[in-house]
Amino acid sequence: MASKHLRLMILGTGPAGLTAAIYAARANLEPLVIEGNEPGGQLTLTTEVENFPGFEDGIMGPELMNNMRAQAEKFGAEFETGWVTSVDLSKRPFHVTVNEEDEYEADSLIISTGASARLLGIEGESELIGKGVSTCATCDGFFFRNKRILVIGGGDSAMEEATFLTKFASEVTIVHRRDELRASKFMQERAKENPKIKWLLNVTPLEVHEKDNKVHSLEVLDNETGEKRIIETEGIFVAIGHSPNTEFLGGQLKTDKVGYIVTEGVTTATSVEGVFACGDVMDSRYRQAVTAAGSGCKAALDVEKFLEGSSTHDWSVSSAN
Ligand code: NAP
Repeated sequence: MASKHLRLMILGTGPAGLTAAIYAARANLEPLVIEGNEPGGQLTLTTEVENFPGFEDGIMGPELMNNMRAQAEKFGAEFETGWVTSVDLSKRPFHVTVNEEDEYEADSLIISTGASARLLGIEGESELIGKGVSTCATCDGFFFRNKRILVIGGGDSAMEEATFLTKFASEVTIVHRRDELRASKFMQERAKENPKIKWLLNVTPLEVHEKDNKVHSLEVLDNETGEKRIIETEGIFVAIGHSPNTEFLGGQLKTDKVGYIVTEGVTTATSVEGVFACGDVMDSRYRQAVTAAGSGCKAALDVEKFLEGSSTHDWSVSSAN
């Protein structure tokens, strides 16, 4: 089957990809957007979003994403559901394979495949996401006002999320699988000085239990004694890191050591001319819906310039001046 030729393909439909789609469609670039297994991205896993500007009373995550998608469609973006199985970035037009069989050629690409919060993979965990289990303190902390909650992990994210959550929760217990923390000294100290933070070290989480379809407790194995314990709690924040969704790139773009795509200066240009990256796939630091949307806008503007014929180098230099 012949490949379909496009000026722009956008891979991923979180706030970054959808904002890029809105801007690119309005610029008549007729983007084709590929939405993978998690259309709408991480926001579809959360409930109410209260910090996205413009929604005074908040908006449900899935609704926000549906609105962005509808807005992109209104301006002419096309959507296809599928999983990008491989890309060939060695020459232009780039080659994109979806679901191992659908072939596309694109003059430019925006990679906005996001990052996925890592989960423990224990029983009860994914079933109770949004019902007491969360991977995002900034998104969901507010719902745990005056509640006793657990934060799982021993890295900087766990320290940061636990500290942040003490603004809402009555007590936050950090649960870590070793008796030594991975977090930086500064972040550890800040958490240790917080009177609302308690510690449960050297335990392995085994299972999340529910009652009335909400989190009721976490079962853990005490690594020292070998005994199992049930810790009653109203909320569990899993903070064991994120993984950028970049495996399909097969190492063709420059990434950092964790796998986040490296972009050039203040632009969204990647190490391959004509390929741009935005959102959590290139941002391990801010990871907010609004910052992802902002970088999606930048990517679409960068693509527009690129397709007009200016080289990445020219405009990344001029933008720094
Ligand atoms: P991380 O440093 O990789 O730490 C992940 C933590 O989760 C580790 O303590 C690890 O335990 C634990 N863990 C991993 N898999 C687990 C499992 N299956 N079961 C139980 N525990 C598990 O990830 P991160 O904390 O997200 O930080 C990522 C990067 O972002 C780091 O470079 C960090 O410095 C940076 N960061 C910086 C800030 C800041 O400066 N404000 C804030 C957040 C993140 P082990 O220790 O036993 O491996």
